[in-house]
Amino acid sequence: VNVIGVLTSGGDAPGMNAAIRAVVRTALKEGIKVKGIRRGFLGLLEEDIYDMEYKSVSDIINRGGTILHTARCPEFVKPEVVEKAAQVCKKHGIEGLVVIGGDGSFRGAADLAKHGINTVGVPGTIDLDIACTDYTIGFDTAVNTAIQTVDKVRDTSTSHERCSIIEVMGRHAGFIALWCGIANGAEDILIPERYDYDEQHIIDKINRRRETGKKHYIIINAEGIGDSHAMAERIEKATGMETRATIIGHAQRGGSPTARDRVYAAAMGAKAVDLLRKGASNRVVAHVKGEFVDYDIAEALAMTKDINQYMYDLSKRL
Ligand code: ATP
Repeated sequence: VNVIGVLTSGGDAPGMNAAIRAVVRTALKEGIKVKGIRRGFLGLLEEDIYDMEYKSVSDIINRGGTILHTARCPEFVKPEVVEKAAQVCKKHGIEGLVVIGGDGSFRGAADLAKHGINTVGVPGTIDLDIACTDYTIGFDTAVNTAIQTVDKVRDTSTSHERCSIIEVMGRHAGFIALWCGIANGAEDILIPERYDYDEQHIIDKINRRRETGKKHYIIINAEGIGDSHAMAERIEKATGMETRATIIGHAQRGGSPTARDRVYAAAMGAKAVDLLRKGASNRVVAHVKGEFVDYDIAEALAMTKDINQYMYDLSKRL
């Protein structure tokens, strides 16, 4: 390959910049030209494309967000739109494309591969919800941001003898909530994968704990659990304990990436380039049992992933 493109798509995640940097630098070292595509598939269709040099990725390894920006492009599900995107790639000489994003973005990459563009996906999402890989870029930073916030809420919650419900990101996945819950020593962790919780059970537990002199109570909710403010009102009404909900929100998507996110991003970005150099297409880079590997995108998308039962049980035991 002589020319490759790189884009970030879907929700952003800290460490995406480190991945872009790795793609650009490893490719340039092999004499491959790199085109940066801004705003994901949308920017590809709009030909928002520029030549990237070594310098284009200077001073970004420590920065959250993505210098390439990201966007959703719902019309990418239409074959004629994908065909147009493939034509844009060909017009710009782009033979291979690195797509940094989540499952939705990999579907787009798979469709482009059918139109003759070699594509490789790199898993970038804070949610960790990509089945084929044990690690996704952004997760570690998001968890660390969330636990710091929970620590702060804990301080004030103890002072005021409150019950605090803290909602972390994860509409369909409870990985961030589970990690935070264990790391913060939360009393309860509510996650969509184990959506069988009984609010009365929580209320009874709060009441029992209060009788033993416990001054505060922390519940970590994954976003997908539902309205945390409404839940706080119900719990306050039922227990008489002042209860507040804090929604951490998009802060979890930003910030300087942790060492772990930077290092995984570097390895995954470089591996994506190695795959394109070998002529591979329709692949996704993954980290499985300590090794960097790759899968066919369709195979990867067909996989399923559950939270680790041992970790979930552990959260209940502590
Ligand atoms: P995250 O889950 O972290 O937000 P994601 O990559 O899964 O990341 P999506 O919004 O689902 O985010 O997808 C990003 C883009 O990928 C979409 O806006 C669209 O352009 C493309 N895409 C999503 N689903 C498909 C599909 N079925 N076929 C083709 N392209 C798709």
